[in-house]
Amino acid sequence: MMGDQIPSLQFSPLEEISACTSTTRKSFLEHRTRDVEFRLVQLRKLYWAIKDHEEDIVRACALDLNKPRFETEIAESGWLLNDIVFTTRNLHKWVKDEKAHDIDLPFRFMKPKIRKDPLGCVLVIGTFNFPFQLTLGPVIGAIAAGNAVVIKPSENAPNSAVIIQKICEASLDPLCYSVVQGGVTETQALLAERWDKIFFTGGANVGRIIAKAAAPYLTPVVLELGGINPAIVSKTADPRLVARRMLWGKTVNAGQLCTSQNYLLIDKSLVPQVIEEFKKAYKEFYPQGAKKSPDYSRIINKPHFQRLKSMLDNSTGKILVGGTVDEDDLFIEPTVVQVDSVKDSLCAQESFGPFIPILPVEDLDEAITLANSVQSTPLGLYPFGSKADVAKIISSTRSGGVSCNDAALHIPTLPFGGVGESGYGAYRGRSSFDVFVHRRPITSSPSWLEFILAFRYPPYAGKLSKFKAFSELVPDFDRRGQKLTVGWLRFILTLGGGQSVKAGAGR
Ligand code: NAD
Repeated sequence: MMGDQIPSLQFSPLEEISACTSTTRKSFLEHRTRDVEFRLVQLRKLYWAIKDHEEDIVRACALDLNKPRFETEIAESGWLLNDIVFTTRNLHKWVKDEKAHDIDLPFRFMKPKIRKDPLGCVLVIGTFNFPFQLTLGPVIGAIAAGNAVVIKPSENAPNSAVIIQKICEASLDPLCYSVVQGGVTETQALLAERWDKIFFTGGANVGRIIAKAAAPYLTPVVLELGGINPAIVSKTADPRLVARRMLWGKTVNAGQLCTSQNYLLIDKSLVPQVIEEFKKAYKEFYPQGAKKSPDYSRIINKPHFQRLKSMLDNSTGKILVGGTVDEDDLFIEPTVVQVDSVKDSLCAQESFGPFIPILPVEDLDEAITLANSVQSTPLGLYPFGSKADVAKIISSTRSGGVSCNDAALHIPTLPFGGVGESGYGAYRGRSSFDVFVHRRPITSSPSWLEFILAFRYPPYAGKLSKFKAFSELVPDFDRRGQKLTVGWLRFILTLGGGQSVKAGAGR
């Protein structure tokens, strides 16, 4: 455990970054990280290091974001601890070779299987808002999958970055897993190296830089980006639930949450009730106001505060709840604003802050058209209303994920990731393992199979028709794309093999 002071963040010397990467890569190439028991020991040690540093995590999150203990224990330390237990409990199951499905009979003798091979030496670049969860979460998957890992925490949450390094150094094999600290320059030095995967969480602009840097090496990338997430509220929704849940989505971590809704499109008949409910909910959540509450975070730093303040200043909407700001305290009050267009500054870009712009709409169709016009592939989508309305919204939109009648929620073991402009690749739960492995198909041809395999060798004369008789699949559709309905006849003629009639006759 550390004392009250968290030492200030020291960036890694640039000249050491390449050497550190080489050590980590070498350890992978020497197969140190492949052994499953080795991976489990690393994860178990990481568990205890997080446990031992729980108070440091709380303190770091409070210093960086004024994050309440409640939110830190649930969404940072507690989240990671559960993730590790879930992973270590299931890893033996996940690493097993997988039986290959849909294999034709002759190939089954080759015992086809899928091996989950580690990718190699991977880079994980973290972000500031959930500095522990979003940095070490992918690392857990990368270790479980047998990779060597270099970790770059966000310099914007400097106290958390220091504690992340402490935790890693206290638990993980330093030859296989290392932390590089730094900002843009250090990250770019890391990006100049060759990686077997880069896992990035952050904004779309930096995401593009990452993908470009990866391209020359053909390095696969996961981009966990943000989104201009809509909440669509139909006239069948419950105004009280809408207000309470949407307010929660924008007060957790002061709205610095990639999955929180960016704006609400509400059926105009429901708007007055929803506004009343927002006022009630705000009083209930923060009886003395958010500023005096111990349960409300602050904005990460001045540039983000300035960005948010100018979004609010530039809005032409009417403030209905909140609206106060205090730069010295990096405080922005949860603020409900009625706007008159999705082009309003509060809707058109991702706020990543505690703003709740509301736009009244005529009906569901208008809401869907508007949501698709603002950003057609956001990270999250939050439809409120009856089952039928929610189903209509889901089938007319795209998004990384959907929480019906809720805000921001994402179950910890459900695959999580964006689509289109909100990124690509998914992790969490089993997906954290899957995203860091290569599914390597393996077959083995026994010598006795030679009597079948011999047909592939020249001379080819007379072999093609025999091969086709055994292997050609007969389409069950016609030239107009219509499905043929003589299924039973085909079944009898092919003796249930689903293959050619000739082959059936042969059998
Ligand atoms: P960011 O993109 O500014 O920074 C993220 C990381 O990129 C940091 O580690 C930083 O050091 C590095 N970086 C910054 N500029 C760089 C450059 N020019 N070259 C190389 N590396 C660079 O993001 P942020 O401000 O930390 O986070 C806010 C964004 O992240 C929001 O858009 C939010 O929605 C998104 N986000 C997404 C998720 C998710 O899981 N999908 C989670 C949290 C945040």
